[in-house]
Amino acid sequence: MQPINTLYTLLTEPRKVVITTHQKPDPDAMGSSLGLYHFLLQFGHEVQVISPTNWAAFLDWMPGCERVLDFERTVEQSQHLILAADWIFCLDFNVLSRTKKMGALLEKIPAKKILIDHHQEPQTDQFYWGVSNTGKSSTSEMVYDLIVQSGHADKINQPIMQCLYAGVMGDTGSFRFPSASATVHEMIAGFKKNGLQHTVIHEQIYDNYLENRFRFIGHVLLNRMEINYELNTALIWVTKQDLLRYDIRTGDTEGLVNYPLGIQGIRLAALLIDRDEKRKWSFRSKGKFDCNTFARKHFNGGGHYNAAGGERDDSLDHNLQLFRSVIQEYAEHLQTT
Ligand code: 5GP
Ligand code: MN
Repeated sequence: MQPINTLYTLLTEPRKVVITTHQKPDPDAMGSSLGLYHFLLQFGHEVQVISPTNWAAFLDWMPGCERVLDFERTVEQSQHLILAADWIFCLDFNVLSRTKKMGALLEKIPAKKILIDHHQEPQTDQFYWGVSNTGKSSTSEMVYDLIVQSGHADKINQPIMQCLYAGVMGDTGSFRFPSASATVHEMIAGFKKNGLQHTVIHEQIYDNYLENRFRFIGHVLLNRMEINYELNTALIWVTKQDLLRYDIRTGDTEGLVNYPLGIQGIRLAALLIDRDEKRKWSFRSKGKFDCNTFARKHFNGGGHYNAAGGERDDSLDHNLQLFRSVIQEYAEHLQTT
């Protein structure tokens, strides 16, 4: 993988470009993709954003979102665009399996793949150019860096600011995590000086749910939460029946894993959801517990130090038992952090 700055001089020559991101994109995945989209459009590139799957309705307000293709619903059209592309930007993921059904296609296409990502352990042999930096708050911050470092800060317009702000806001927990560095605040200060209205972005993303989601959260916190005070760990789970009963859609479970971290002393929170084809895990920690390694080792996953995810094929009950037993191996870490 060559450093991304060797790409900068080529940015102004129009090409066929596809931008993609991880399945079930979150605000950073969609925000960084659309931020880059609005940047590249200004050089006359033919640009298409393709998401591997559908996404939460709370992202629909993002400028350009109406033009994003859902690969699973547009397989032929998307395959055609991917095969014809000169460049494929891969944003906010670093292993091709995170693009689900698109993964096999991305592995064998002629296009040059470009990685922009902040997760650990990238599959660097898959990318022609790239930047991978776990010290960055978000991929949206990295797209901002690309725009500025390539000498095109003057191209930052309202759509770019709105998309990138949403991405940074999402991945920093609204600027509360340690990753919300001085440089992040400087970037946002620049956006504010250029007229960004930030309150409306918080409202679009966080105050845009339906009543059923709050009834669902009440049910889960009451009936599906188990606290292990000895290990400072909380486990919550969601059954298939819960998903049906509360009519839960993509995005409705976003943020659920964070609730138990608000309980005094809790250092590790885990959420298990019984999705159609997989059992999907989310892990969040405070302080010194490495969720990335934990997710990789036991749950076919990965991510960041304090936030990771994974998935397994076996049953909900089996997964719950597995979690209860493997955390015992981490007793020392969980008790001392
Ligand atoms: P979330 O819990 O919000 O789904 O994901 C938390 C973090 O872990 C995100 O940075 C996400 O990219 C990463 N992550 C989630 N699920 C998986 C997975 O199945 N595999 C890998 N490698 N990373 C994941
Ligand atoms: Mn991210």
